[in-house]
Amino acid sequence: MRFEISKVLDAIEGRVCTDPSLVRAVLDLAEVIRYQDIDGGRPASLLRLGMVIDALSRELEEDSVQVYAVVHRALLSDADLTSNERMVVRRWADDGLVEVLDNPGDRMLEVADLLGLPVLSRVRFDGLRGRFPWLVEQPGRLLAPVPGAGGPVFIAHVGGGHSPVSGTRSPAGVKLLARQWRCPEPGCALFGGGGGGGAFADLARVERSPAGQPPPALRGGVPTCPRHGARLGDGGPRPRTEVLAVRVGGLVRRRFVLSEEQPVVAGRAPEQDGGIMLGQWLNDEARRWISRGHVRFELRVGEVVVTDVSTNGSGIRPAGSMAEADRIALAPQQSRVLGEGDMVELYPGVQIGRAEELPTGAPFTPTSVMAEAPTMAMRLPRA
Ligand SMILES: [Zn+2]
Repeated sequence: MRFEISKVLDAIEGRVCTDPSLVRAVLDLAEVIRYQDIDGGRPASLLRLGMVIDALSRELEEDSVQVYAVVHRALLSDADLTSNERMVVRRWADDGLVEVLDNPGDRMLEVADLLGLPVLSRVRFDGLRGRFPWLVEQPGRLLAPVPGAGGPVFIAHVGGGHSPVSGTRSPAGVKLLARQWRCPEPGCALFGGGGGGGAFADLARVERSPAGQPPPALRGGVPTCPRHGARLGDGGPRPRTEVLAVRVGGLVRRRFVLSEEQPVVAGRAPEQDGGIMLGQWLNDEARRWISRGHVRFELRVGEVVVTDVSTNGSGIRPAGSMAEADRIALAPQQSRVLGEGDMVELYPGVQIGRAEELPTGAPFTPTSVMAEAPTMAMRLPRA
């Protein structure tokens, strides 16, 4: 049982981050873990976060969906959590995977406003509707998780719909996310990783790429570290990024960020740092065909360049066309710029393209290349 739970917590850890390019919704972790009605269990349980993330995955029909969690600092020492759970939350905080605040206030809505994301909360925020008109104008931007037959479901506070809706980044968000920021507080997990480094800079556990920095808080119009309350320094333009997605058997399995700083290799089991491993979603045939490292992506002056680094080659589906006549072969060592709507196909049914151009949620067929084991629903031990 103990082992089971730590495996589930590991799986949940992969679903929390503060990278604006990857997160799909904002939530208050303290509220979610204390939502006893969801499972009728202990007063506080970190597993409830997994249940809510699963519900979000089901609604978006996409696997490995990530959320932006805002955490009150008191939660790090909350006696209703197990010591293991407290340790896990502290690690998330240290690694900047969640945002820890002394006074969360309306930070959750600020993040949702800057990033154009839906908010998952039972709170109605009536008093903040003037400042954030989308709370009313865009039903589906604010949804309450409620108990359902197969786990939590969502109900919009306005209009009563079930599906989370994303908006666009606010003008302030667009401006803030065009720059990289530096917190004067040493070792800041959210806005650190720069400013001269020093002797131990190489030993930093998580070297955060400035491309994935969270949105600063705005206090009186000044970009501020939400954790330390310190004014942030402008570290220059933020590196350009493109969000790519892996689709296997019609379902988007995960997203990843390609930045100008570093190429990314995708394949069965890439050896490179930051490689995108596909092996767990492949059947035997696909696993035999796809090389450990199969395709390499680079972002060059805003263009996505894909290079085949495999043994067997791949193909390009121009503008997403599934007609065999349109498929362009990409031989080993060949490169090509990924045009608008194009996707690279490593093996029939295994595709990578720009996230916003890759539809998800196609029903699985018996010939699906998806392996049996991993499913969208994270398995939770029953109480
Ligand atoms: Zn800071």
